[in-house]
Amino acid sequence: MKHDAHRADRAPWDPIAGADLARPMYDLVRRLFPICRSITGEGVRDTLRIVGELIPLTVHEVASGTRAFDWTVPREWNIRDAYIANAQGNRVVDFRCNNLHVVSYSTPVRRTMPLGELQRHLHSLPDQPDLIPYRTSYYEETWGFCLSHHQRQSLPDGDYEVVIDSTLADGSLTYGECLLPGASNDEVLIYTHTCHPSLANDNLSGIAVCTFLARQLMSARRRYSYRFVFAPGTIGSLVWLSRHADRVSRVRHGLVAVLLGDSGSLRYKRSRIGNAEVDRAVQHALKRSGATYDVEAFSPYGYDERQFGSPGFNLPVGRMSRSPNSGYPEYHTSADNLALIRPESLADSLSVCAQIVEILEGNRRFLNTSPFGEPQLGRRGLYRPMGGVSVPERETAMLWTLNRSDGAHSLLEIADEAGLDFELIRRTADELLDAGLLTTAP
Ligand code: ZN
Repeated sequence: MKHDAHRADRAPWDPIAGADLARPMYDLVRRLFPICRSITGEGVRDTLRIVGELIPLTVHEVASGTRAFDWTVPREWNIRDAYIANAQGNRVVDFRCNNLHVVSYSTPVRRTMPLGELQRHLHSLPDQPDLIPYRTSYYEETWGFCLSHHQRQSLPDGDYEVVIDSTLADGSLTYGECLLPGASNDEVLIYTHTCHPSLANDNLSGIAVCTFLARQLMSARRRYSYRFVFAPGTIGSLVWLSRHADRVSRVRHGLVAVLLGDSGSLRYKRSRIGNAEVDRAVQHALKRSGATYDVEAFSPYGYDERQFGSPGFNLPVGRMSRSPNSGYPEYHTSADNLALIRPESLADSLSVCAQIVEILEGNRRFLNTSPFGEPQLGRRGLYRPMGGVSVPERETAMLWTLNRSDGAHSLLEIADEAGLDFELIRRTADELLDAGLLTTAP
């Protein structure tokens, strides 16, 4: 019975099957790419509507002015059109060509002004003169345009018509939640931000990985409940935390999943706790993947792990990414586009995230029921071959699992100490449960 109870809790999908999802994941990114998102507004709603076609998503609206700890939900920003036109009436900078051209949260403007005055509202990158920068002004009322430095330098003197047809008005902040209940109310929190406009790696790759991870989990038996949160950066996690402050103790493990589509190797940033179970599970999955990877310590810089790892919460939430923020030259520029990300990278990110979930689902503690000396394995038929595992490796796994199953060591800790794959230790534990040599630790 214990054997079945243990095994029934396992998620029955094959994490490697994620490779088949490379194309659908990329197609989702391509579909979301043109939408002009910000921390509030219709672009976020349109994005969540599309995500909601793939997974069950509850959309929450939080009114402007709502407090979230030391922060306040800002007014809602929406934009229909924006351009800079020259004296001949030609649009030389056009929001319709690229939504990065407008500083996000720009206040409305409709004026004609000389180039000298307009320059104060232009942003470009002298070191990357062909790229359009991505700029925001959420908490300071201003307006601006972004353009390539080459184009900026080529603007002739004269008067320009400047139009930003935007609204900044009381409305709401929108976020989406996909809750997949499990056998336990203990939760695994997966968070990704939704506030960037036409940028592919920085936010759409994370949205794609989270959406497809949720899809895989929908059809799996789940020990934990899984809560996927699609919300704007910083203010979104603050709002979510402020609305769940009494329930965050349910979060047993968590990941911020962002920047997961470029060709760089995977990179994990540990939770503020540093050695939480999720930190161990991620590092085990990365190590056993055979690919190169990096692990960094927590720092109060980056994405929403900063809020989950603020001292008042100190949640076991790490961050999974490929190239880190500011760590790739295309970051926050028009070069973070569909050509930067690769379907295989999205699928690889998904596969590793699924393996992390698989480890969390299967990680338990047991008690050796025959702890006085080693039990005789041969007599119990435990030396027969197990699919794909040599007899010596299998024996090693049994001896480690029996020796460390004192109620204090988890299967993941045993796998790490033995230098063996978690999946081998978990299967071994199943067999030892079958043979009556293990029992679930209280
Ligand atoms: Zn960003």
